[in-house]
Amino acid sequence: MSRFFSDRHKGLVPYTPGEQPRDARYLKLNTNESPFPPSPLAREMAGRAAEDLRLYSDPECRDLTEEAAAYFGVSEDEILFTNGSDEILNFAFTAFCDESRPAVFPDVTYGFYPVFAVLNGAPYREIPLREDFSVDVNDYIGTGGTVFLANPNAPTGLALPLSEIERVVAGNPDGVVVVDEAYVDFGAESAAGLIRWYDNLLVTRTFSKSRSMAGARLGFGIGSRELIRDLNTVKYSTNPYNVNRMTMAAGIGSLRDEETFRANCRAIMENRAWTVRELEALGFRAPDSRANFVFARHERAGGRELYLKLKEKGVLVRHFESEQLKDYNRITIGSREQMRRLIGTLRELLKEEI
Ligand SMILES: *Cc1c(COP(=O)(O)O)cnc(C)c1O
Repeated sequence: MSRFFSDRHKGLVPYTPGEQPRDARYLKLNTNESPFPPSPLAREMAGRAAEDLRLYSDPECRDLTEEAAAYFGVSEDEILFTNGSDEILNFAFTAFCDESRPAVFPDVTYGFYPVFAVLNGAPYREIPLREDFSVDVNDYIGTGGTVFLANPNAPTGLALPLSEIERVVAGNPDGVVVVDEAYVDFGAESAAGLIRWYDNLLVTRTFSKSRSMAGARLGFGIGSRELIRDLNTVKYSTNPYNVNRMTMAAGIGSLRDEETFRANCRAIMENRAWTVRELEALGFRAPDSRANFVFARHERAGGRELYLKLKEKGVLVRHFESEQLKDYNRITIGSREQMRRLIGTLRELLKEEI
């Protein structure tokens, strides 16, 4: 830390992204990227948009917003695009959290939430999950704060049914409830339709996972006009051109290619089912994942030990050091061939008796 670093941020411990090795020798199953390329239409439209890069991007994101509003069945002022969904989550902490409205989220969830809270000078309260990693929504009624729930949750993969999400939204009428649906396309129910009935609900989504566009940085939120207006106030106070031209065009292309999107989501869900069966046969247990990863622990082998051995063999998975999670590894679901290689490597390692 330099002697110039603001006192305001002295306590800030930044988020640690998963490793991004520069050589391609790893089978990368550590950051929940898609194994499939983005839609050909998205790539083609991004290429054409590159011709106009001398011009600023449209700060209102009008073409993409129009396309997405029609696609998701909301009006254009109920949607806001951002530079990845991390950005809209940060905006939500800026807009809706302060001393009188602490952020509230589970003790095991997306690691960025506490970072955003501290960055924005907002207190936060972490609510323990049940023993089996599930969220008890009774703990989220009348919180007096701004609730953040990832659904499906990370890194567990467990999803709450829509009725339970609705109980949380209805149970906090004087606070915003943010439902982070980064993984919703892999088999969970979206709460986006509820914005009709609740003015305190913000649903955030991303093109990073199910639309194979992590490197393009495109996320968005769906919520009431008033919430979207507040988030726009934050956006126009930080970076009005937060979504670049190529990404905007790729986003439109992706939404117009429903077939690629559906086929890719289906393939991930099938590969997930296959992987879970194979893992269980090897002595692993994993909560019922609705995401493009599984969170698995072995009956004998330690989590950290497995992570290191897999890395030695060229397979990268994500390991978390905390006491609660250290027996597990989060494994991204890739193509069937990648999953076969994962299982083959694990079978060898477990034979070697680690
Ligand atoms: C990946 C992820 C995000 C953010 O992804 P972006 O690439 O910034 O859109 C948000 N929430 C959760 C739970 C995630 O896993």
